[in-house]
Amino acid sequence: MERYDVIIVGGGIAGASAGFALADAAKVLLIERESQFGFHSTGRSAAVFLQTHGPDVIRALAIASKPFFLHPPDGFTEFPMLKPRGMLFIGRHDQIAELDRTADECARFVSGVRRLDTRETSAMVSVLREDRLAGAVFDPEAMDIDVHSVHYGFLRGMRARGGKTVTDAELLGLQYGGGSWTVTTRAGTFAAPVIVNAAGAWCDEVAALAAVICRSWKSKSSILKQCEIFSTAVRPDHREENG
Ligand SMILES: Cc1cc2nc3c(=O)[nH]c(=O)nc-3n(C[C@H](O)[C@H](O)[C@H](O)COP(=O)(O)OP(=O)(O)OC[C@H]3O[C@@H](n4cnc5c(N)ncnc54)[C@H](O)[C@@H]3O)c2cc1C
Repeated sequence: MERYDVIIVGGGIAGASAGFALADAAKVLLIERESQFGFHSTGRSAAVFLQTHGPDVIRALAIASKPFFLHPPDGFTEFPMLKPRGMLFIGRHDQIAELDRTADECARFVSGVRRLDTRETSAMVSVLREDRLAGAVFDPEAMDIDVHSVHYGFLRGMRARGGKTVTDAELLGLQYGGGSWTVTTRAGTFAAPVIVNAAGAWCDEVAALAAVICRSWKSKSSILKQCEIFSTAVRPDHREENG
């Protein structure tokens, strides 16, 4: 049985970045259920880098990660990981107070954040219906993330530091004994004293295999809410023309 210092479950951005960070100091194995990396959330992200999204702790993490994205270690990636884009948080007439509050909050993190009125907002995005739109908050520092470059930069860097990755390796069982976990997967059995649960939406299932209680992230509802707000604000003529 192969033995490691750390076994990471899940090869999305969380597992890959943890592997990159740990592989400098530890013997690391990353196991991924699918035949390729980035098959789930990581490969489906809208790929936006935002310092003004989510609770304070998420904003602080985004701000702290920006220097890495802009100035990664030599050889990490051939392409820039962030490119300027800009982002609007739009609101209806019944959401003016929320827009004002969002503008004040966001300005604490990004100094160039601006509150736009209806006219300024629809001048930026012509498909928005002015009768539904009360305005927006503009974050000029929102950027596109080249997710593939970031993700594969972490995976390549982890392997260069001596880490190992295995695909088609769904975790089936976790058993603790003698100071070490025995990790049973479809690709074989491995052992390590430390397991990192980076299984994304499946983190509860992985935690249950180890008989640990896990608090899931409830991100789906906020994504759906954003999609809903956008669809109610899009002009009907644009919806018909563009499906
Ligand atoms: C539609 C959408 C848009 C988004 N837009 C953005 C955005 O613009 N900006 C942003 O920063 N974030 C965005 N996100 C969020 C971001 O994509 C996720 O937070 C991030 O990708 C999560 O990474 P992860 O590694 O935790 O999970 P995942 O990428 O899901 O990786 C978890 C991995 O664990 C593996 N796994 C699960 N169970 C097992 C098991 N038993 N054994 C082995 N492997 C297992 C899975 O196969 C999977 O590959 C978006 C997400 C979605 C869905």
